[in-house]
Amino acid sequence: MSYTVALTGGIGSGKSTVAAAFAGYGVEIIDADIIARQVVEPGQPALQEIATRFGSTILHADGTLNRAALRQTIFNSPAEKAWLNQLLHPLIHAETRRQLAAVRSPWCLWVVPLLVENRLEKLADRVLVIDVEPEVQIQRTMARDRITREQAEKIIAAQATRTARLAVADDIIENSGQPHEVLPLVAELNQRYLALAGAIKQD
Ligand code: ADP
Repeated sequence: MSYTVALTGGIGSGKSTVAAAFAGYGVEIIDADIIARQVVEPGQPALQEIATRFGSTILHADGTLNRAALRQTIFNSPAEKAWLNQLLHPLIHAETRRQLAAVRSPWCLWVVPLLVENRLEKLADRVLVIDVEPEVQIQRTMARDRITREQAEKIIAAQATRTARLAVADDIIENSGQPHEVLPLVAELNQRYLALAGAIKQD
């Protein structure tokens, strides 16, 4: 298993942007959001189980999962939400382990938006947190997702706090400035993680 660095941060903090910069150094990226979608793709047993439990209205006409309908179904039902989590969490965990085991680069970046919320920080060798000023986070989220300030604030309020995230950080990238400003730190962290992974000699 390659040395694993978990990358987390609130919505709009710059996780995807920073992950792309690391990918430029040949670092393999494992994305928790993609894995969460993969386990419920058509043909996966979990999708069949969901359709059996909630009925075929939970599927789109093309057989893919209707996420909005599923969200609505579990929104007011803690029991159904627990059932879904019990179904999906082991599958997500297994798929994550499978992808981590297949990594070929000396270290890999595991992008996990809900690392703190789901208490996954111990599964990584190291935690890298992207931190931004709250106002910057709101503005970037509004612009990217074309949502109102109220919607952005509501999403942020439902996530882990900035303090809780920083409390689990081994390293922090401050991304409130211009996009290019993080690049030297990305380069430096890549060297540090290569050293920690044993791929290059430490100074
Ligand atoms: P996340 O993946 O954490 O939700 P993104 O990487 O998608 O965040 O960044 C949120 C938005 O902010 C995107 O539109 C992205 O292009 C933009 N962005 C990211 N970093 C910066 C930056 N330093 N300066 C300006 N815009 C940025």
